[in-house]
Amino acid sequence: MTYPCYTCGSYQPHRQPRDDRERDIIRKLANLQKPNAYVDDYWICGRTDFDCRNIRTALRVKPFDPPQKMPDPE
Ligand SMILES: [Zn+2]
Repeated sequence: MTYPCYTCGSYQPHRQPRDDRERDIIRKLANLQKPNAYVDDYWICGRTDFDCRNIRTALRVKPFDPPQKMPDPE
């Protein structure tokens, strides 16, 4: 899905969380703001020439302040 990315300042391809680790990270972030947040509403910037991974929702370009990035696997 192509969405505007707050960090990139442009439209970028976004992907949904792809495994339980990523869903857990988003669930923890999201639940700080909204109990029972729906993890599938969250999208991760998939820009390929720059390691962005900024997290947004389908409706909000900047759901977190400061913006949050999907961390690398350990
Ligand atoms: Zn981005």
